[in-house]
Amino acid sequence: MTISDKLKAFKKKLDPIRVKLIAVSKKQPLEKIREAYDAGQRIFGENIAQELVEKQPQLSGDIEWHMIGHLQTNKVKYIAPFVAMIQSVDSLKLLKEINKQGEKHRRIIPCLLQVHIASEETKYGLAHDELIELLRSDEYASLKQVRIEGLMGIATNTSNSKLVKEEFYELATLFKGIKQAFFRDSEAFKELSIGMSSDHEIAIEQGSTMVRIGSAIFGSRKE
Ligand SMILES: *Cc1c(COP(=O)(O)O)cnc(C)c1O
Repeated sequence: MTISDKLKAFKKKLDPIRVKLIAVSKKQPLEKIREAYDAGQRIFGENIAQELVEKQPQLSGDIEWHMIGHLQTNKVKYIAPFVAMIQSVDSLKLLKEINKQGEKHRRIIPCLLQVHIASEETKYGLAHDELIELLRSDEYASLKQVRIEGLMGIATNTSNSKLVKEEFYELATLFKGIKQAFFRDSEAFKELSIGMSSDHEIAIEQGSTMVRIGSAIFGSRKE
């Protein structure tokens, strides 16, 4: 199947249930991204700030770029002018820097808070108590140039679908609790970004509103 065929198959599955497709284009060449763009895809995800900054000016200006990888505070300034959403916010320090860059560029930057759900040590993300502490802080309350639109999580990389299901269930439950406790009056807080190529079906069952799909669209990446 071509990239276009694969995108069509995803759209057919995702559009009726209103789940957004983030085409993860990290480590993929521009020509493959253009192929996806020409097939109608407009939301792309990258995980390295430098790579995103290099690709963005070479591709169409109407692409919505989502930052989905761990972001260092000193890199925020490079993506702040154009990034459509930063999904990988994992500290108050980072959120404060995004806010500062939002002020500079006179824009409100949409963000998701990344929660640590995997049983692996290596994955980034806030622990539950850190998430709550962040949302309760006066510093967070004072940030006007960021808008928290939901939560993001990465499940354990395993063929154990029961474990993956438990991790997504846990995040979906947390999402509802956080919505109730902190964002009851916010229409913007509505995104639960869970699910990648191998586990998006489980994620959708658990209430995903955004799936981040790379290899199932573009094929394997050159590492
Ligand atoms: C690479 C990546 C994806 C997509 O992974 P695939 O397995 O290729 O679908 C999704 N989310 C994040 C955060 C990633 O880094």
